Amino acid sequence: MGKLAVGVAVGVAVVACAVAGVVVGRRVRSRRKWTRVVGVLKELEEACETPVGRLRQVVDAMAVEMHAGLASEGGSKLKMLLTFVDHLPTGSEIGTYYALDLGGTNFRVLRVQLGGKRSSILSQDVERQPIPQHLMTSTSEDLFDFIASTLKQFVEKEESGSEPSPVRTRELGFTFSFPVKQLSIRSGILIKWTKGFAIEDMVGKEVVELLEAALVRSGLDMRAVVLVNDTAGTLALGRYHDADTVAAVIIGTGTNACYLERADAIIKCQGLLTTSGCMVVNMEWGNFWSSHLPRTSYDIDLDLESPNPNDQGFEKMISGMYLGDIVRRVILRMSQEMDIFGPVSSRLSIPFILQTPSVAAMHEDDSPELREVAKILRETLEIPEVSLKVRKLVVRVCDVVTHRAARLAAAGIVGILKKIGRDGSGGITGGRSKSDVKMRRTVVAIEGGLYTRYTIFREYLHEALNEILGEDMAQHVILKVTEDGSGIGGALLAASYSSYSVDNSQHLVVMASFNDHQAPHHHPLSWVGANSAIHGPFCPRHYLAVIDFTTTTILHKEYVIAITSDKP
Ligand code: ADP
Ligand code: MG
Repeated sequence: MGKLAVGVAVGVAVVACAVAGVVVGRRVRSRRKWTRVVGVLKELEEACETPVGRLRQVVDAMAVEMHAGLASEGGSKLKMLLTFVDHLPTGSEIGTYYALDLGGTNFRVLRVQLGGKRSSILSQDVERQPIPQHLMTSTSEDLFDFIASTLKQFVEKEESGSEPSPVRTRELGFTFSFPVKQLSIRSGILIKWTKGFAIEDMVGKEVVELLEAALVRSGLDMRAVVLVNDTAGTLALGRYHDADTVAAVIIGTGTNACYLERADAIIKCQGLLTTSGCMVVNMEWGNFWSSHLPRTSYDIDLDLESPNPNDQGFEKMISGMYLGDIVRRVILRMSQEMDIFGPVSSRLSIPFILQTPSVAAMHEDDSPELREVAKILRETLEIPEVSLKVRKLVVRVCDVVTHRAARLAAAGIVGILKKIGRDGSGGITGGRSKSDVKMRRTVVAIEGGLYTRYTIFREYLHEALNEILGEDMAQHVILKVTEDGSGIGGALLAASYSSYSVDNSQHLVVMASFNDHQAPHHHPLSWVGANSAIHGPFCPRHYLAVIDFTTTTILHKEYVIAITSDKP
């Protein structure tokens, strides 16, 4: 072999070694990066862990906060708002009622005919419309004019030809699912907006007045007899179908819950009297917070970048508005660790671009090659074809985020049961042993797209309920889907609070006198919680009111001189 040949051979060997070195080096670096990506997942899993012990801490915290919120105004992040709903539908409701459901991505108008028996809805007509984006941040007048004209068209369509025009004013239940300080069953003031709405001039205003002004402008003869939120509507529909229903939970775009509380447990309203001895309390549980909640850096960033930092902490871990964005943030972080998703897609940096229904679709993709995952990555996030290994990683992220959300929602539900002594533990103060507590059938009405349309979410939630309550107790707790509860329930409540209803024809005479400066002039009798039937003549110094017998709610009884059951 000549020198030249040796030289060439050595050269080739050197090049080969160098190439091998580069390849191996790349592999090692790539493996290291992959390990870092897997580390992101591991970190997420650990931070989102919800073992049953931790869930029980959340249960206790929820029950404690409920107490605190009932004890004093501002006593807790849970507002525990009075709804003035002190009786729920019984089945005796009869006639045609309307409802208006405003509170999320869609706005609905409904017409319901009730047959006078439990579960006897003879007909229901619903029209659903998305709220035009610009109206969510416009003025209250624009929003309500839009609503009133939609309602008017709906009424005209529904009533055309079929029956003569009604001799009495149409009655409407207004389901308005934002935090409201309720003044009576049919009036309330908007505290703040949530879920992407921001109509500044409406905050602090009386919501029904704005609606009714728009109804007058549109020339529609209709009156709102109740103002409720979606949870109260859901509870009403739940109760209409099943008398054991004690609470309602919404898990959709946002999340919230309400339940039936004893009036004497609402300590912040001393002397609150209701004929039933109970009142539905709107928890506004989306704002619940506890140090036991498993929080990640993604939650912190999401909160900081949100329009309402420090608010709605529970909701931001649970509801449909946010789950997609948590998943997006994790994928973005992974893509920064390693180019597993190709060059970092700019779409990945756009907040809320990945929505929860897409998370559900990826999570529930049962094709062997995870075709749905690839499709959503490609179409929504503009991430080109990625390996199966990476697609599986994305599914894991969806799983971790959904698992935590569902389990926290379950802990919240058990928190309510604990507060009302229906969790089998003997209530918040304990003391009684499990065997002492009669296990009563307990129904929780539930609705919202996240719960009803995301099967794995629902299964995780049920699994956690069983774990927390134990099999024995869990079989007495039934979650019942009450589809469209927010709308139909609003109509049902309109029926049970109708000023024409037979039940409400009995009257109480309330006589009270107080100084001018004590009387809230804009709502002369809101202090007695009178709802719709105020017939009495009243003058500034001496008030005589006739109020519904079934809904007597007296907030400041020191002003009440006499209550008699005689008609004037
Ligand atoms: P809203 O809460 O706006 O009144 P819904 O109760 O119908 O309306 O809930 C809609 C929300 O539920 C959506 O914003 C979305 O977050 C969630 N959602 C809807 N469909 C699905 C789905 N298939 N999988 C997961 N989440 C869903
Ligand atoms: Mg809803």
